[in-house]
Amino acid sequence: MNQRNEGQRALWRGKDILSVKQFDRQDLEFVMGVARQMREVVERVGTWELLRGRVLANLFYEPSTRTSSSFMAAMQRLGGTVIPISSVQYSSVSKGESLPDTIRTLEAYSDVIVLRHPEVGAAALAAKYASNPIINAGDGVGEHPTQALLDLTTISEELGQVDGLKIALVGDLKYGRTVHSLARLLSLYNVELHYVSPTSLKMPQSVVEEVAKTGTPQHEHEDLEAVLEQVNVLYVTRVQKERFDDMALYERIQGSYVITPQTMARARQDMILMHPLPRVGEISMEVDADPRAAYFRQMRYGLFVRMALLSLVLGRQ
Ligand code: ASP
Repeated sequence: MNQRNEGQRALWRGKDILSVKQFDRQDLEFVMGVARQMREVVERVGTWELLRGRVLANLFYEPSTRTSSSFMAAMQRLGGTVIPISSVQYSSVSKGESLPDTIRTLEAYSDVIVLRHPEVGAAALAAKYASNPIINAGDGVGEHPTQALLDLTTISEELGQVDGLKIALVGDLKYGRTVHSLARLLSLYNVELHYVSPTSLKMPQSVVEEVAKTGTPQHEHEDLEAVLEQVNVLYVTRVQKERFDDMALYERIQGSYVITPQTMARARQDMILMHPLPRVGEISMEVDADPRAAYFRQMRYGLFVRMALLSLVLGRQ
């Protein structure tokens, strides 16, 4: 390993992963490189005892399938063990225990905590009370940094580069935390961003302003047709039902964009279709067999990226 990589690794040890704002391009290239090594390990031998004896506390206050199970699989494939707390209704949280106290408790038993919570800033708050690394696995409508890292990895691995691409983020851009993190990360590259959403679900101004500072071109559309034939990446999201007070409004908006084989017929032959999942009707199942449908492969990249992140913050190589 060269000295630059040694230096990078030292920087990651003990670090919290709270927001994509903490990364520069060099960090991203480094994480993607470690994720590539993890992929090789998994594909060649399946597991590696790198984190043997280390314990991950996986604390989920909101539903999750992929994020929670991929962090568990990542820890286990690296020889570590997991305290899974995904049914907070059966933990002391239901007795009214505060987040800081729950974090202090889990910190006493583990080496790293992965936290998903409905409030923006919850991971940052947890990090104040913990001396071990906290990894933000989604803080309400705020951020989902590890998802953005795996999304970026997917784009880079599937298309061979990120610079020069036209990328459309489609659907619920207001409440979708994955697109908030991904737009910020992509703005570190030389890309063109297209935001496709109903007017009531537009990308928050705060994100647009941050991205604008990097000089990244951003365009807003209501109609997918405006960009469908041009883009290299179509990143579709679900309307975030759980963030709506008005269910009638949700019902009206849900189903605004549905990707079907007919949609795909008009898209570029070399594009990829992504989705953070779960999908609830935004991509018809008939599209799954299309080689451009990358959403299941995307999920798999999540395992390698999370293996990379756990090994880095735990300071093991
Ligand atoms: N699984 C992603 C998230 O937790 C996307 C979604 O739920 O729509 O943000």
